Amino acid sequence: MKYIFVTGGVISSLGKGLTAASLGTLLENRGLKVALQKFDPYLNVDPGTMSPFQHGEVYVLDDGAETDLDLGHYERFTNTKLTRQNSLTSGQVYARVLERERRGDYLGKTVQVIPHVTDEIKTRIRELAESTKADVVITEIGGTTGDIEGLPFLEAIREFALDVGYSNALFIHVTYVPFIKAAGELKTKPTQQSVAKLREIGIAPHLVVCRCDRPLNKEIRDKISLFCNVPYEGVIEEKDVDHTIYEVPLMLQRERMDELVCQLLRLDTPPANMSHWQDLLRKLIAPQKRIRIGVVGKYIGLQDAYKSVYEALSHGGIAHDCGIELERIEAEQIEKGGAEKLLKGLGGVLVPGGFGERGVQGKILAAQYARESKLPYLGLCLGMQIATVEFARNVLGLEGAHSTEFDKASPHPVIAMLEEQKGLMNVGGTMRLGAQPVQLQVGTKAAHLYGAFVVNERHRHRYEFNNSYRAQFEQRGFIFSGTSPDGELVELIELRDHPFFLGCQFHPEFQSKPNAPHPLFRGFIAAALQRLTL
Ligand code: GLN
Repeated sequence: MKYIFVTGGVISSLGKGLTAASLGTLLENRGLKVALQKFDPYLNVDPGTMSPFQHGEVYVLDDGAETDLDLGHYERFTNTKLTRQNSLTSGQVYARVLERERRGDYLGKTVQVIPHVTDEIKTRIRELAESTKADVVITEIGGTTGDIEGLPFLEAIREFALDVGYSNALFIHVTYVPFIKAAGELKTKPTQQSVAKLREIGIAPHLVVCRCDRPLNKEIRDKISLFCNVPYEGVIEEKDVDHTIYEVPLMLQRERMDELVCQLLRLDTPPANMSHWQDLLRKLIAPQKRIRIGVVGKYIGLQDAYKSVYEALSHGGIAHDCGIELERIEAEQIEKGGAEKLLKGLGGVLVPGGFGERGVQGKILAAQYARESKLPYLGLCLGMQIATVEFARNVLGLEGAHSTEFDKASPHPVIAMLEEQKGLMNVGGTMRLGAQPVQLQVGTKAAHLYGAFVVNERHRHRYEFNNSYRAQFEQRGFIFSGTSPDGELVELIELRDHPFFLGCQFHPEFQSKPNAPHPLFRGFIAAALQRLTL
């Protein structure tokens, strides 16, 4: 069993997760079984309760774990199925250590960061290795070298390498090499200092991955090699991508990163065959056609808030050799300027998931415009609930219809809290979470797209369609195309007299991959293309 640790230096947001995921892709294509894991040094137990302003998207796994969005990269780039074992925060580590302490497990000892906290961290690496039986476990350490809160994790991986033997562990440091305009050159000092910081705590990286906006010349590579104590070939260039993040694996392959990793870990494998990846990239970079898709949300200004949604749309495009031009639309802008002004001329509109009232009215107007003008609509979670409220108000004439999330006193609560969850007080971990079966109704658009009777989809929500309104909706052409197997919970809705108007209570975006686009996104892009070529 081999272990790779990915740390980051200088600044955050360097794309360590993407680097780890891309290395995973390359190693898988060399025939190795790979497991990926993320350690986050913050004290929240999971990112489930963090605002998108703080943290970006919360990525949900099959088992309901609410995790960091880097796990989304891991799943999209590799074949691994992740569980809560693949994600660890300081909050979880301390919770476990304190629980043990209260139980008296430490037999009167003083409980300390070293060895008790570090042992807990090391256990999590070992557990993943054992349960996955992977050839290589890649562990990414969140945060930046030099942060106080990251120290226990770095200490733990240093010890871990000692435990498993140095020939079985490899350290990769992802760092930043900025171009300084006034000097007209790339600067290596921040990299030198961040590697020095790592060496201070006993970790000497084998490879230094340099994030930069232009190529590293020989002189720069020599300098990094010398000052960071890595061989010349161990200086890996990872330039900003020109078009898409899916370029990264090929970029790292050109730098021979996977070859070096295998050499250093003594893994005897053939070169990675990336021809399918090249094909996929061609479709992303030079598609035969292009289409504009609007996403109406509340965190539109943030890069990472709807990460998986944007990714899944691009996968839907790959399925049709079609490039997606995203129109990111603030829901509140629609409230101000009207839907037509912002949505006219688009191929389709998507309303993603969300919580809280801001922007809800704008999303309702977007759904109304899409329904009335026969514009393809895909509503995810809140996007489905919004479409339901709009239909209730404007087609069924149910004045004041709403979700009880936004109007507790609504005379027509067409979306309401799950009965079983009423009265729960804690905010964290009280939602319907994770993969659950969805039974599809024969003859519906959804069933046709999936080509299946039952599918598993991931959930993250509290509110549901209110069943006392089902008959009324059905009479007017609102189709319940998917439910829970017992028929109780509405999972998918669509409109009869519309080319593509579909909403789902779950999050299909979490299960879409570039080489396996999700059926609903594939169908949505097909409908958008059809509208514009008609
Ligand atoms: N706020 C809604 C609910 O809790 C929708 C959640 C979501 O879109 N993820 O049901």
